[in-house]
Amino acid sequence: MKIIFDHQSAETDNIFTFYFKTEETISYTPGQFIELRLPHKRPDNRGDIRWFTLSSSPLEKELSITTRIVKNSSSYKKTLKDLKPGTVLSITTPMGDFVLPKILQTKIILIAGGIGITPYLSMIKYLIETKETRPIHLFYTVNNEGDIIYNDLFEKYKLPTTIVVNQPTSAWGGERGKLSLNMILGIAEPTDNTLFYISGPDSMVKDLSETLEKTIKDHKRIITDFFPGYN
Ligand SMILES: Cc1cc2nc3c(=O)[nH]c(=O)nc-3n(C[C@H](O)[C@H](O)[C@H](O)COP(=O)(O)OP(=O)(O)OC[C@H]3O[C@@H](n4cnc5c(N)ncnc54)[C@H](O)[C@@H]3O)c2cc1C
Repeated sequence: MKIIFDHQSAETDNIFTFYFKTEETISYTPGQFIELRLPHKRPDNRGDIRWFTLSSSPLEKELSITTRIVKNSSSYKKTLKDLKPGTVLSITTPMGDFVLPKILQTKIILIAGGIGITPYLSMIKYLIETKETRPIHLFYTVNNEGDIIYNDLFEKYKLPTTIVVNQPTSAWGGERGKLSLNMILGIAEPTDNTLFYISGPDSMVKDLSETLEKTIKDHKRIITDFFPGYN
């Protein structure tokens, strides 16, 4: 499928959203991802293909992806940052089952590590647009306060949100340190049917889901989305 780069916006000093126009309507469910090929000269050993969750809502006209780009980022990310409006790229059909359950009443705990917030951006935008209310609690852990994005979106949905900052400044008034399962269970008080969605860097998702599996018998209630490549 062809997509045309339109513009980018900076969410923080190192998190950017890239917006694309499409020639045809692309259907997807909030939480799904695409593979984006980005041909460029002399790619480094990570190559020219990456996977990105769509951070846009399916009801928005443009598709968007949101990612972190730092000084020593890959040749892929540097090329993405320098894209010129009008550049035509190709993506796969959106895919994946990291999506909200069909039953609206199901209690949900969303857990995001850093840029792992992207699937929830799409979900919450969509819930606002469709005026769908669901019993959700969001846990969002970041390294620094400056890494928090789209807090206004969560406030707009009146989403119960716990933000945990690993290395906060003294001005930070919220939770601090490492997000633990004890904190999640203590604050959100899950029932026997609550679903746990965990999205973020490989090590964080692995650690939390393995700890959770020791507590919850029905492992189908734990839904994970691994973002490889972040260290
Ligand atoms: C289903 C799925 C959905 C995803 N959704 C998203 C999403 O929405 N947003 C998102 O940002 N990512 C997402 N990812 C991850 C994405 O595909 C990339 O793997 C990730 O962004 C890292 O990109 P990068 O390899 O270009 O590394 P970079 O972002 O450039 O770098 C990440 C870190 O690795 C270091 N590094 C960079 N290059 C190298 C190298 N050659 N060798 C060793 N270390 C290096 C950097 O110093 C940096 O600390 C998703 C992955 C999957 C599988």
